[in-house]
Amino acid sequence: MSLQEITTRIRAEEKRAGRAEGATRLIAVSKVQPLERIEAVLEQGHRLFGENRVQEAAGKWPDLKARFPGVELHLLGPLQTNKVRQAFGLFDAIHSVDRPKLAATIARIAQEEGHCPALFVQVNTGEEPQKAGVLPAEADAFIAECRALGLTIEGLMCIPPEEEEPSLHFMLLRKIAERNGVTGLSMGMSGDYERAVALGATHVRVGSAIFGARVPPQG
Ligand SMILES: *Cc1c(COP(=O)(O)O)cnc(C)c1O
Repeated sequence: MSLQEITTRIRAEEKRAGRAEGATRLIAVSKVQPLERIEAVLEQGHRLFGENRVQEAAGKWPDLKARFPGVELHLLGPLQTNKVRQAFGLFDAIHSVDRPKLAATIARIAQEEGHCPALFVQVNTGEEPQKAGVLPAEADAFIAECRALGLTIEGLMCIPPEEEEPSLHFMLLRKIAERNGVTGLSMGMSGDYERAVALGATHVRVGSAIFGARVPPQG
């Protein structure tokens, strides 16, 4: 599907749901994609991209950013504390804030660097043991802890379990956001972004629907 088609579907879903036009931002998830596919999307004028790994992003984005001014890059995958400073240099947003040690490191480095990417707290809405994110029952306390460290929480992020109806997870994420006064909702991927838009997503993260299947596949 083309970027244009996906954007059209997002706008249609916003309208159906009674949301403002443009209320949802489309993050093109470019992890493991061949460079020429990423360049093609940049050449169409798209500037908001997502990557899963700091190292992989460091290998391709400095050059792409120099060639295509105005790129905004979001980190979607897990972040190790020893990569936080490098992440600050590469990313405009981090969607995977999920533990006290990481929050504390981000707060310290934000102070040292004098700036901070936009921060999203990842919530493990499906309570899957292998998945990152704070548990729903721990989310309120963790958001409060981040705020006590001086961090601004821009939004919440979730990746629903593959076998489950994503809408339930999107609704849970939204409920947690609302009761904590958090406005951003990073939810919805290639298979379910329209439902996420209907349920209030401010950021959808779409990879394979834009770029084609990832080869080799990566989580
Ligand atoms: C890979 C990935 C996506 C995009 O997945 P698609 O199904 O290809 O759209 C979105 N969010 C995260 C966190 C990812 O790792």
